Amino acid sequence: MAESFQERLERVQAQIAAASERAGRDPSGVTLVAVSKTHPPEAVREAAEAGLRVFGESRVQEAQAKIPQCPGHLSWHLVGHLQRNKAGLAASLFDLVHSVDSLRLLEALDRAAAEAGKTLPVLIEVNVSGERSKFGVAPEEVPALLQAANSLARVEVRGLMTMPPFTEDPEGARPFFRELRERRDAWCTELGIPLNELSMGMTHDLEIAVEEGATLVRVGTALFGERTAA
Ligand SMILES: *Cc1c(COP(=O)(O)O)cnc(C)c1O
Repeated sequence: MAESFQERLERVQAQIAAASERAGRDPSGVTLVAVSKTHPPEAVREAAEAGLRVFGESRVQEAQAKIPQCPGHLSWHLVGHLQRNKAGLAASLFDLVHSVDSLRLLEALDRAAAEAGKTLPVLIEVNVSGERSKFGVAPEEVPALLQAANSLARVEVRGLMTMPPFTEDPEGARPFFRELRERRDAWCTELGIPLNELSMGMTHDLEIAVEEGATLVRVGTALFGERTAA
């Protein structure tokens, strides 16, 4: 018989607990973001019935169609790349945007949040590896972006996100996760601001991410199974 959602969830929760213990962390400091992209509202409903509250989507339009068909008490995070012309929709649909990668996007989200009558929490996506194919802000540019964000009233930078290059062995991600945490610590001291959230780790490398300080892990495949569409 196929594994039930409950069984998959328990396995992911056990991974988070084990990695937290190894790092001397409280597992309640790690939020599981269930990445439901490509999966139908029924999958979200089943996950919500199992107790999950935080869901991640990659595409604004897919989320726009899906969210109204899901239970109303859930929290939705945008984890994928955001184009500036979709900032308005994103600001109204999501409770946290993980993927801010430019000042222009941050400014667009600030205006959109004002129009939606809300304050929008965001994370800055940092391209730690310097890989050209990856989205994200180069580490050298982050302090200026954080300072500019200070003058925007409707967006609140809560922390940082990164996607390491894929390596067969999840240990390959560790140096990138560690670098993000260390840079975060330095920027907090330097700029005198809190950056409490670190969004890092997916199905493949979530344990490494938790060991290195992740507060948000974005997990799709381990919860919902393989994606058939992109
Ligand atoms: C799809 C996606 C995830 C989830 O990936 P899995 O490997 O299925 O856990 C996490 N983060 C982002 C940004 C994604 O696009």
